[in-house]
Amino acid sequence: MTLLITNGHIIDPANKIDEMLDIIVSDGKVAKLGKPGSLPANGAEVVDAAGKLVVPGLIDLHVHLREPGYEYKETIATGTAAAKAGGFTTVCCMPNTSPVNDNRSVTELILSRAAKEAAARVYPIGAITKGSKGEELAEMGELFEAGCVGISDDGRPVMSSGVMRRAMEYAKIFDIAVVPHCEDAGLAAKGVMNEGFVATELGLRGIPNAAEDVMTGRDIALAELTGARLHICHVSTAGSVRLIREAKQRGVRVTAETCPHYFTQEC
Ligand SMILES: [Zn+2]
Repeated sequence: MTLLITNGHIIDPANKIDEMLDIIVSDGKVAKLGKPGSLPANGAEVVDAAGKLVVPGLIDLHVHLREPGYEYKETIATGTAAAKAGGFTTVCCMPNTSPVNDNRSVTELILSRAAKEAAARVYPIGAITKGSKGEELAEMGELFEAGCVGISDDGRPVMSSGVMRRAMEYAKIFDIAVVPHCEDAGLAAKGVMNEGFVATELGLRGIPNAAEDVMTGRDIALAELTGARLHICHVSTAGSVRLIREAKQRGVRVTAETCPHYFTQEC
């Protein structure tokens, strides 16, 4: 099958393309690029992409597919359908399932369901600790062999620095990313929002930025100690950004992600 996509704004960083071009896609592969109007249709299906961006399939490194266990929230089929609708052709799903994806059988279940039902590629992220409880390391070798591309206790911090160090040492062996939820539980103290004027006004318990910053700093130090690859989840503080920027400059293998709601202006 041949597809002609016309009048789109093509952005392809890998090939350094950022301009208005037409594309011919033949049997799922880009066959030709040309100035708008320069490529003949020759019976191809034509898609008018005027006013739209044409980009390679996007990758979301942090999704919650919730299957198995929480199918009433999201399933592999619904989550990947949403991903595809938004232009994401690959997703990495967190282990916040029930049971937690902390062993081979859960990973295999996710991958076998994904093979049948997913609208996008699915790469599972396994748990760092059993049950994501932060106590005992999950079977990392098994998770890696079964197809996990990283490890995370997403939603929960690994409070023991010793456990996190061991996790990073194992992750280094398999060269899979450690994807931490950076939040010091002691400092967060069951808070429900950012600590500050609004929290006081509402009478809600606040979480200081330091709760995130200290764990970001710790995990960067451990990545430096172990040589593990670190990808920090949902960064929300300026302090974390400074630490990550400085670590990158030093050559630490650290990347990070954030969420749209953290860009909302503080009152
Ligand atoms: Zn998450």
